[in-house]
Amino acid sequence: MPFSGNRCLTMVLSLVVLIATAAVPVRAAPPDGLPVPTDSDPMNAGTLALELGSIRPDFPIYIGSLRPFSGAVGRRIYMALVQPGATDPTHVASAPLAGRGARNDIVFDARAVMDGHSDAFRRMLLDHEYFHARHLAGTTSVPAPRSLPADLQTRYSEAAAWGFNVAEARAGRYAGLRPDEFREALDRSRDHYAALRKMAAGRAGVEWDGISEALRRPALRTNAGPVPEVRARPSAPGRSSATR
Ligand SMILES: [Zn+2]
Repeated sequence: MPFSGNRCLTMVLSLVVLIATAAVPVRAAPPDGLPVPTDSDPMNAGTLALELGSIRPDFPIYIGSLRPFSGAVGRRIYMALVQPGATDPTHVASAPLAGRGARNDIVFDARAVMDGHSDAFRRMLLDHEYFHARHLAGTTSVPAPRSLPADLQTRYSEAAAWGFNVAEARAGRYAGLRPDEFREALDRSRDHYAALRKMAAGRAGVEWDGISEALRRPALRTNAGPVPEVRARPSAPGRSSATR
């Protein structure tokens, strides 16, 4: 039986609606409380949360929120891990929490992050802070830094996080990362490692062999198990920022 004119029109209109719907890019909603990315503000906390979630879906266990710096911080910083609610990553009181169950925040400078970098570089920076958060929560292969003298802890943590980035980049985690951006991660990893080695030389109670072994292959622990109740405490100040 031939279709009636009205029915034909209905089918055509349905098809048009379907095509139009399919042509509109679907953007996943960011986690609760974060702004939705827009064309006028593509680099907001919602964008970064989506990008981090695309490579680390479990990040909300370790990261409470993402937000821009509040005002100038005196030096160029891409992003940093701070304790919940802190806004100034250079302030001692902003030091991220450490211990099992620790959950911290990421703060960022959108302009520094965007400036001449690829999307892959941005994902690497987010992954850098994610590793710091996991390290502080005790869910990586790298022992906590608290057994080291305070002045070595920042170098130790940075060598671990950049070393993790380098390994992940080599494994193809950050698709589209440019050679110069990989080089930056490699240089930072080597610089922190070399500085740490120099600082550790001749220090009483500091065993370089153990440190070197711990930093040889930084990795996430996949069998971390359930997160226990929070018993976090402030970590060493000045740690965990990706600076330039
Ligand atoms: Zn760092």
